[in-house]
Amino acid sequence: MTEPITKPITEPAAETADRAPAAEPDAYRQAPDQVAERLGVDPGAGLSTRQVSERAAVHGANQLSEPARRPQWLKFLDQFRNWLILILLIAAVVAGAIGDISDAVVITVVLLINATLGYWQERRAERSLEALRRMLVPTARVRRDGTEQVVEARLLVPGDVVLLEAGDRVPADGRLTVAETVEVAEAALTGESQPVAKSVTTFDHTSITSVPLAERTTMLFMNTALTRGRAEMIVTATGMRTELGAIAEALRTGTEPPTPLQVQLDSLGRRLALLSGVAVVAYALSALVRGESLSDVALQAVALAVAAIPEGLPAVLALTLALGVHRMARRGAIVKRLASVESLGAATVVCSDKTGTLTLNEMTARILWTAGRLYDVTGEGYGTAGAIRIHGTEDASAPDDLHDAVLPFALCNDAHVSGGVFIGDPTEAALVVLAAKAGVDADWLRSELPRAGELPFDGATKYMATFHTEPDGRTRVHVKGAVDVLLDMCTDVLTEDGVRALDERHRDELLAVTGQLGGSGLRVLGAATALMDGTPSAFTPAALPGLTLVSVAGIADPPRPQAREAMALCRTAGVAVKMITGDHADTAAAIARELYIDGDVVTGAELDRMTEQQLAERIDDIGVFARVAPEHKVVIVRTLTNRGHIVAMTGDGVNDAAALRAAHIGVAMGITGTDVAKEAADVVLTDDDFSTIVQAVHEGRAIYANIVKFVRFQLSTNIGAILTLLSASLAGLPSPLTAAQLLWVNIIMDGPPAMALAVDPARDDVMRHPPRDPGERILNARRLLAIGWAGAVMALGTVTLFAIARSHVGPDTAVTMAFTTFVLFQPFNALSARADGGTLLGRHQFRNRALWLCLAGVLVVQVAVVQLPWAQAVFGTVPLTATQWALCLGTASTVLLAELAVRTARSALGDR
Ligand code: ATP
Repeated sequence: MTEPITKPITEPAAETADRAPAAEPDAYRQAPDQVAERLGVDPGAGLSTRQVSERAAVHGANQLSEPARRPQWLKFLDQFRNWLILILLIAAVVAGAIGDISDAVVITVVLLINATLGYWQERRAERSLEALRRMLVPTARVRRDGTEQVVEARLLVPGDVVLLEAGDRVPADGRLTVAETVEVAEAALTGESQPVAKSVTTFDHTSITSVPLAERTTMLFMNTALTRGRAEMIVTATGMRTELGAIAEALRTGTEPPTPLQVQLDSLGRRLALLSGVAVVAYALSALVRGESLSDVALQAVALAVAAIPEGLPAVLALTLALGVHRMARRGAIVKRLASVESLGAATVVCSDKTGTLTLNEMTARILWTAGRLYDVTGEGYGTAGAIRIHGTEDASAPDDLHDAVLPFALCNDAHVSGGVFIGDPTEAALVVLAAKAGVDADWLRSELPRAGELPFDGATKYMATFHTEPDGRTRVHVKGAVDVLLDMCTDVLTEDGVRALDERHRDELLAVTGQLGGSGLRVLGAATALMDGTPSAFTPAALPGLTLVSVAGIADPPRPQAREAMALCRTAGVAVKMITGDHADTAAAIARELYIDGDVVTGAELDRMTEQQLAERIDDIGVFARVAPEHKVVIVRTLTNRGHIVAMTGDGVNDAAALRAAHIGVAMGITGTDVAKEAADVVLTDDDFSTIVQAVHEGRAIYANIVKFVRFQLSTNIGAILTLLSASLAGLPSPLTAAQLLWVNIIMDGPPAMALAVDPARDDVMRHPPRDPGERILNARRLLAIGWAGAVMALGTVTLFAIARSHVGPDTAVTMAFTTFVLFQPFNALSARADGGTLLGRHQFRNRALWLCLAGVLVVQVAVVQLPWAQAVFGTVPLTATQWALCLGTASTVLLAELAVRTARSALGDR
């Protein structure tokens, strides 16, 4: 037998300094009270605040150590790890060595500016993604100082009592002290794909020295997930001392894979680099043939390569995505995978849960039915002020004794309500309030009649049951759940004449009541009870006897006020909305009507009867899926996906994980969602609100539009630079731009204007056109043509002005004018690229202050570069006259006019 590593605590923890025992490696062999004693904790009360802080000082935070970060200076140096940059470096050294100091200085400055820009963009992108990660702080429900609290998981210490339910991620290693039908997915740790059952019972492992993790059924391990049941555990190990910590090295996540758009742009960049390579070689050869010196041509060729290859594109793209997801996070949608931003912008269908997403999840019981009679329930929210009156009367006098009617609602219930505030499930809290209005104090009752066992609520079974031992040794079972489900479990019903066998007439009456309540948008729950002899050997559904239905409650959950507006936005944006709910069809249909969700209502049972083909044919006409189980969500997602839709699907429960993964965009609820759902999702909503999804779609579209804008801007300038030099060369002219000037253009192009385009505010009409075709390439034929056209206009303008100026004002002024014209083309080109898909000269053009400031900046810097003597020495420029400036500016504006001409021609030809 192995020796226990820790010593038992002998001093009472509250009186003396806590010894903060180390992790308990043998806890799985020990009985729960033994573990509790060794860790100095009373499972019923948890640790005291003082114990927690003392232990935290010894054990540190409950988190896995982060991989060592790459130092910032190395990240800066990374910017130079690019063959183009290396060639430029060599060129700078060579230029310096042969005495060409001004070129050497320009190249060095350009390289430094380029590296700083790239570094800054990467850092900004990294920071906003880091900030995003910090928004998804894992929490744990603990018992401390005798009360339940929610704390950050990293603050857990050994000895903490953690409370868990289905869907929760286990926040540390721990010994189970309570386990109600607990099953855990441990694949992350043990590789076992099926959930394993866990229990409190200690097995006799004494004869074995080491029990494999997978067989330690009394333990829960960090980062595994509860897929079923309810559990309590005492934390035995935290942070790197957990089993996960031991293998943490292997689990360290790598960098995020590139998004489809990043892959597309990467391959585009590579093709353009190849094309530029060919162009550069062609240019160099023709310059050599013309008799220019090898050193001049080499430098020029390298500078042209730098200007022609869109090496800045990936950094701007990464920054756009990162800043975009940051903006989304501020609006309540935390995007976990950058690729989802792209899918969000192309979403064609949003499948949304009803409760809490389309509705407020603020439940108030409004109607009670019992013994053949309907009652109205007054009062609002979770305050217990209110009364129960006979339906339709204003009579405030106390109605019949309703204790028995609400007893199952109060006992088969985990919510606590006090002072208008509740802990637990809102539906259950509403039932605690209902019980209070009927004179039943749920908390008191639960302490008087403790549970012997339970069947926790499950969205698939749609009911919950608790077992309570009566003083005479018999067992009372209380059940609450969907009425249609309960009716199949009931043999009797409480009528005005007492308990009677449930016959067809009663069944019809109950279904009519349910339909009536559901039809007015109320969520309907039934309560049933039964008395059994003895105690069942196991608390399973099979142990339930025939039940007596005692009451039915109708609970109001108003639609979210913004949901209706968001729905209208979806309609204009061509995004279909489908409500998917576990609730009754009548309730769902009533809420759908209020929210103007169009389409047929189909229930889970009907879905089961449909073939794949039938569903595929009907699905576009269906607006509401009611009484569905989580597995139906997967079928719905698959069918929609097969029909070519880009699907966003919401979910919160542990069983929703499969559907969240199957959807293009899995959206988990941040408030009510389980850890399992949040982990499976691509987007987590911090406010659970449907309208936040719609805003995220809006943002996704705006981000995509911005990517299009700066890709157009950068590529057309790249093409412009190549064409300018090539066409001049073909026309037998010398180069209109020197190497230093080309490098300068490159900075302007990769720098502020591109970034200003990346953060461009969304156009007003982004949600007024249908989603883009998800199969469409970012550079479709129209955009490719536009890029080529803009590049050609820039080249034509620059070279023509250059040629004319050469014959009129001499070569030096001609080069300065060509350089200035090419630089001034960029502001106009930016405005033209910015108008992609929108109006060219509308009010919208004035809405990006950053862009206008940049463009003004470009102009001011260019004036300085041309007019200031020291800059003239560096860039080889000469001062220009006002007329020459006007000529350059006029020529530069032609790129905007050319775009206008194309648009006019296209609309004249009837093509938008
Ligand atoms: P969604 O969130 O997907 O819109 P929902 O939350 O309305 O669905 P569920 O929570 O799965 O759906 O509830 C389905 C049905 O189960 C409800 O109509 C109700 O009758 C019953 N039910 C809901 N909560 C409980 C509970 N805590 N205990 C027992 N029965 C419940």
